[in-house]
Amino acid sequence: MTSKLTMDKLVSLCKRRGFVFQSSEIYGGIGGFWDYGPLGVELKNNIKRAWWKAVVQERDDIVGLDCAIVMNPRTWEASGHVDTFADPMVDCKSCKRRFRADELEGQAAAAGAHGHAEAPPAVVRCPECGGELTEPRMFNLMFKTYVGPVEDAAAIAYLRPETAQGIFVNFDNVLTTTRKKLPFGIAQIGKAFRNEITPGNFIFRDREFEQMEIEYFVRPGSDEEWHNHWVEERQAWYLRLGLHQESLRVRRLEADELAHYAKDTYEIEYLFPMGWSELEGIANRTDFDLRRHSEFSGKALNYFDEETNEHVTPYIIEPSAGVDRLLLAFLFDAYDEEEVKGETRTILRLNMALAPIKAAVLPLSRNEQLVPTARRVWELLRGKFMSQYDDAQSIGRRYRRQDEIGTPFCVTVDFDTLNDDAVTIRHRDSMQQDRVPIANLVGILREKLEV
Ligand code: ATP
Repeated sequence: MTSKLTMDKLVSLCKRRGFVFQSSEIYGGIGGFWDYGPLGVELKNNIKRAWWKAVVQERDDIVGLDCAIVMNPRTWEASGHVDTFADPMVDCKSCKRRFRADELEGQAAAAGAHGHAEAPPAVVRCPECGGELTEPRMFNLMFKTYVGPVEDAAAIAYLRPETAQGIFVNFDNVLTTTRKKLPFGIAQIGKAFRNEITPGNFIFRDREFEQMEIEYFVRPGSDEEWHNHWVEERQAWYLRLGLHQESLRVRRLEADELAHYAKDTYEIEYLFPMGWSELEGIANRTDFDLRRHSEFSGKALNYFDEETNEHVTPYIIEPSAGVDRLLLAFLFDAYDEEEVKGETRTILRLNMALAPIKAAVLPLSRNEQLVPTARRVWELLRGKFMSQYDDAQSIGRRYRRQDEIGTPFCVTVDFDTLNDDAVTIRHRDSMQQDRVPIANLVGILREKLEV
């Protein structure tokens, strides 16, 4: 990550190049909702694909699932969300803005901690106008809706605030159909909704976002070992995808920070411009969820252990990451600027697996002989990887445009191509150029891209 990049600068790059737009922008937008543009959707899909590959495709102990967003509302009573999924909220009596009380107290405590020891305790006032705040009130973060035509209490349902519960309620279905043995996991990628009081920091805290969650079921007693295993495993995944080690850290939550279901939780945090912030939580949820759903549904959710001839309620280790936050971290981390011949070159040094566009085909100019040849080269590539064709403006500017969106390879078609049937591959990071026969181009790019 480079210190040159502020959140504002990244937001502007994301809009200008089509990564992220404000949702319903023409109507003034709506707080906490974002749309992903042509490059953003590719990056997002690539993050999800890389995760799925690592946790489902390459492992023999995890299977996938895709559950409905709206579930029987009893689910959320059993999970504890109806009673406890709430944040303390305060309103400013003057400007009427609303804040999370715990965040304001955290800021005040931090300000006090940096001040003089004899300083009086900070009085928390509105951070916008300095006005007086109301007493904290609990505010449930679940979005409510009605199922069916009658809007009464019996028809209330919720948009899921996490994908996890869909996995728990399907525990028995998956166990029966896959005949998995402990330890095993179920993974899911999907939308989640939280009516956050203070969405912000661009796509870091949204009201609609996407989660990638694994629920890993283990024998009670082996849970701590598996918890450590998953903290290591998930950290290694971020590093493999290129996040800088020095921008990544693991923090163990204090007892008073733990969610009601958790025995122990680690957070993988990234150093964003606003400070260290959670990318992924890895919780030991014990047998809380399976027990609660057994109790509320009346259906036994357990596992028959053939080794001990006993039914056990597995413990659950849950690595839970947010796609939108990861996308933000990958963009920050990949952003770089360097001086080339007196000009500043902006580069997204994204891992090749994540880069939205893998190769761009660029004729040296819009010459009538070069264009059809370049289009023919593009035809060879487009069925194999996400690629672009670009012949507008000077070749230098086109290289810069591709660097700025993280395209690892530019394939240049020049006048020699017409004689030697070869093209030049330009590498994004080193700007090194290699001449290769068109006949070998797909194979060479495949090898470099490891696809
Ligand atoms: P926070 O403390 O930041 O509110 P959390 O601890 O409530 O997050 P979890 O319930 O553990 O978050 O959710 C797991 C993951 O889902 C988080 O690590 C994060 O990546 C993602 N996530 C949670 N809430 C949001 C949100 N409002 N916007 C975007 N991603 C989110």
